[in-house]
Amino acid sequence: MDEAKHFIDGAWCAPASGATLAVIDPSDGEAFARIARGTAADIERAVHAARRAYEGAWGALSAAERGRVLARLGLLVARDQEALAQLESRDTGKPLRQARADAAALVRYFEFYAGAADKLHGETLPYQAGYTVLTVREPHGVTGHIVPWNYPMQIFGRSAGAALAAGNACVVKPAEDACLSLLRVAALAQEAGLPPGALNIVTGLGHEAGAALASHPGIDHISFTGSPQTGRLVAQMAGEHYVPVTLELGGKSPQIVFADADFDQALPFLVGAIVQNAGQTCSAGSRVLIERAAYEPLLERLAAAFEALRVGPAPADLDCGPLISEKQRQRVRAFLDEAHSAGIPTLARGRLVAGAPRGGYYEVPALLRDVPPQSRLAQQEVFGPVLAAMPFEGEDAAIALANGTPYGLVAGVWTRDGARQLRIARRVRAGQVFVNNYGAGGGVELPFGGTGQSGHGREKGFEALYGFTVLKTIALRHG
Ligand code: NAD
Repeated sequence: MDEAKHFIDGAWCAPASGATLAVIDPSDGEAFARIARGTAADIERAVHAARRAYEGAWGALSAAERGRVLARLGLLVARDQEALAQLESRDTGKPLRQARADAAALVRYFEFYAGAADKLHGETLPYQAGYTVLTVREPHGVTGHIVPWNYPMQIFGRSAGAALAAGNACVVKPAEDACLSLLRVAALAQEAGLPPGALNIVTGLGHEAGAALASHPGIDHISFTGSPQTGRLVAQMAGEHYVPVTLELGGKSPQIVFADADFDQALPFLVGAIVQNAGQTCSAGSRVLIERAAYEPLLERLAAAFEALRVGPAPADLDCGPLISEKQRQRVRAFLDEAHSAGIPTLARGRLVAGAPRGGYYEVPALLRDVPPQSRLAQQEVFGPVLAAMPFEGEDAAIALANGTPYGLVAGVWTRDGARQLRIARRVRAGQVFVNNYGAGGGVELPFGGTGQSGHGREKGFEALYGFTVLKTIALRHG
């Protein structure tokens, strides 16, 4: 593996432009590696390599053989799990145990999709006498994957893992801010015997390599995870060639807490869902909606939990690491400054540990109360450890608040009332709803995706395989 090269056609190749980019450690702001700065020429090469693989060695494998290659890759990732976690932690700034969980999830993605590869099948359909009609699920061909920096391994696993299992050849453009783990996985794919060209990784900037991939006419499907603004651009570029797009664009996910909830059970989830990965999680539970009768007592407990949070460099493995970049820190600060100017009370903040490097991009978690539902803080994704609390009275008001943003990705419902659990779960606008839990530990088996500004299409679980295939109907008339 050479970090300053792309992985194209089963080999490490220098960027066509010769240019490279610095890789920054968010814990101290220092450069520690360089990656290739990809351009349209590198994407061109990767797309052609993928096409050759799809029409050649990779496309010729049976589903069971594809599954076997992915199973081998899963075992190799498991073998190198600790090294991958260390790399991911340094590259993204996430605490080590989070990076370890991400590496374990990548193993699970390969295990899951290895096993699923030969279980994806069509149907036979009842039709007129003298006909047999069947459906088959075929790969798109060459799929493009634009991956963000917050969970490189996990998002690669759910996206490229499923696409490969379904028989596609992939071109992946990881985020410029964090891509080292995926280059390492590419080396493991080579060791696992993935045919050259089945998986290609081109690193570089979004508006260069990313845009070249999204607008390439040789791509048959694009899977994008990132911001709504970039997602819209990617969809427009792909739309020029009628290329279907899966968009996963984040959210402003509510945790709805009723007064009858078990607060002891809820508390670690209410805090963890916004503090995990320093709030840089698309499914972060960034709003807590609390029934009025429980508002003050629950806020008191939340405030105590927030004050106990510790922030520091990734290897210290505390509650939060740094944010990914200075740009992200400025973004989070702008939200907090605006809330402060608007008189929104900050109830509690965590603490930066002594000795954290001065150059790191640290922002301590913040709990804000009485956040007006129409404020920017209540409406827009912060992508930082900032929890907005607001009260509600009754189920209708809870639903109006929960559904009152442009997003619809995930929701949490906390109540002991079984009928209410279902009523709320059915009425809330979200792709995933968790009752008396949040996130279900990541669950690679569970379909995931949003509505509205959170995007469309589903990844994860078996459902993802449908998205990475095209359904063909074959009608045979035999008399
Ligand atoms: P982004 O959407 O710009 O970047 C995500 C990916 O898209 C990266 O790989 C990037 O290189 C690529 N990209 C950027 N511009 C592109 C273009 N013109 N064409 C094709 N690809 C392009 O996100 P960002 O600037 O890193 O972060 C900004 C905000 O996005 C964050 O504050 C957060 O709100 C949101 N975000 C969400 C997620 C998520 O998981 N939903 C992930 C990252 C960022």
